[in-house]
Amino acid sequence: MPALSNLPFARPSKIVCVGRNYAEHARELGNAVPQEPLLFLKPPSSLVPSGQPIVLPAMSKQVEYEGEIGVLIGRTLRDVSDVEAAAGISAVLAANDVTARDLQRSDSQWTRAKGFDSFCPVGEPHAPPADLSTLSVVTQVNGKERQRGSAAQMVFTIPALVAYISRVMTLEPGDLVLTGTPAGVGTLGPGDEVQVDIPGFSTVRNPVRTHA
Ligand code: MG
Repeated sequence: MPALSNLPFARPSKIVCVGRNYAEHARELGNAVPQEPLLFLKPPSSLVPSGQPIVLPAMSKQVEYEGEIGVLIGRTLRDVSDVEAAAGISAVLAANDVTARDLQRSDSQWTRAKGFDSFCPVGEPHAPPADLSTLSVVTQVNGKERQRGSAAQMVFTIPALVAYISRVMTLEPGDLVLTGTPAGVGTLGPGDEVQVDIPGFSTVRNPVRTHA
């Protein structure tokens, strides 16, 4: 089992994720760009720190990486404006929204596909830049670049996403928001090593292994 005590921050009450927030990634999976943010949750039990393995579950034949910009919430946010949302972000961190793509397709919702233990690797949190749109995300598998995206390319900006989520559910200090993945997702196999960087801010690197 993942050692949650090794996380670089306190366990959040929830991890809120956004799907299809880069137009090119929506297209690569054959999906339309959403008119409103597409929200889903990952359980806190999916969190693992850098260095711990991503464990491929027996239920899936197609586990994929999704490098993402993660943000940590620093104060209670309920029905806030974009400006208040931006001010409520205490840190940014590299995150990997690991996904069992075959189960995402076969299930009518994504709880199983997104929720396995070890399916949310996260790096060290770092104080955010003044302008969140300057952040970028790069994913490498076995040292080879597979994804590169900028927050400036997002369909919905990071402050707009956090504000939108706060109109659905109260965000509490320590909650984590994953802001979507750029194009270039692909499959992971045993023995791979996947690294997500928010250049200048945070890195998370994990080996991949099969279930015991
Ligand atoms: Mg994702």
